Amino acid sequence: MSSRPVLPGGTIGLLGSGQLGRMAAMAARRMGYRVHVYSPEGDSPTGQVADVEVVGEYDDGDALARFAAGVDVVTLEFENIPMATAEQVERVKPLRPRPEVLHTTQHRLREKTWLRARGFPVTEFVAVTDELPAEFGYPAILKTAGFGYDGKGQIRVEGPEQLEAAWTALERQPCVLERVVDFEREISVVAVRGVDGSFVDYGVMENAHARHILDLTLAPCVMPLKVEKQAVEITRGIFEALDIVGTACVEFFLRGDGEVVVNEIAPRPHNSGHLTVDACVTSQFENQVRAVCGLPLGDTNYYGAAAMANLLGDLWEPVAPNWQALLRFPEVKLHLYGKQEARAGRKMGHVTALGKTGAQAAGIVRAARAALAHLG
Ligand code: AMP
Repeated sequence: MSSRPVLPGGTIGLLGSGQLGRMAAMAARRMGYRVHVYSPEGDSPTGQVADVEVVGEYDDGDALARFAAGVDVVTLEFENIPMATAEQVERVKPLRPRPEVLHTTQHRLREKTWLRARGFPVTEFVAVTDELPAEFGYPAILKTAGFGYDGKGQIRVEGPEQLEAAWTALERQPCVLERVVDFEREISVVAVRGVDGSFVDYGVMENAHARHILDLTLAPCVMPLKVEKQAVEITRGIFEALDIVGTACVEFFLRGDGEVVVNEIAPRPHNSGHLTVDACVTSQFENQVRAVCGLPLGDTNYYGAAAMANLLGDLWEPVAPNWQALLRFPEVKLHLYGKQEARAGRKMGHVTALGKTGAQAAGIVRAARAALAHLG
């Protein structure tokens, strides 16, 4: 397969059509690329800003073949693309990251086993596939091994006596039982790796979750340099061992004793990296485009400290958000994803702001978001 770069003017194919694809498509089009998106949904967040939106099921071989024929390189914004789909595309056009990366990262048990086997620090876990483990430390969280995100398919288990009921509630699917980490903070490292193995990162970001969904990210995370270096080096090691090409993210728990533990790998741009659009010389999406096209990676330096707050569908209840009130914050940047239907917990958009510190920027985006609920 050719590894010649795909230059501006070429066509990028995207598997998946959500907000991550939308922002990647916007970065690609700004650089003069054409974008074709493939997913089962029409009028999607990505389709609205792409040149061509192909609507097809992921197992529709004919539609996929036509999609792949029309593009120069393919990337993705959704890691739960079925393996057969990824492999079909890869036989025709370069898919970056490659299918093996998806195989490892779309399944919690495979991912954690892969990490542990290579000596990367992971949470204590045990597989629950055929029977319940006789001994394990509690409290723990039982998570389905496949197709989980934003806390879906997870049940907290306080002791062994609750395990049977939790597993039954998850339909006795293959699961991972994971010890609850008494973390001080949740952090992430978004990074990018090129076709030639070049590597850049956006440093350590600090994340706050609400109801298992990312609520707020700030950068840079104020922490000891040693821990920051350790998180970035683990990220680099994972990118190299998995041979990731593109933008991806490693989420960590930072424990009270200063040790970092990998929570999960997202093999695509990440919600915590959204602030790079407004805060960095090159966003995570532009760098995804550069990486998958085989081009030099862009500068990841920050113009300043920054924060991002997610806008979930809950904000549309009981009435639509007050955009005028939000836009009275002149320093705040509004990003909406074009989703027609607002549902509780659904990511509809986000806001970002720069500040003297991440904490100050966080105060601004929180205040701006709170203003959305104000009448008049
Ligand atoms: P996940 O989908 O596995 O990333 O989990 C979503 C969120 O649930 C994480 O960002 C944490 O806030 C929380 N969580 C998941 N696993 C653990 C764990 N082992 N210990 C403590 N909190 C966890």
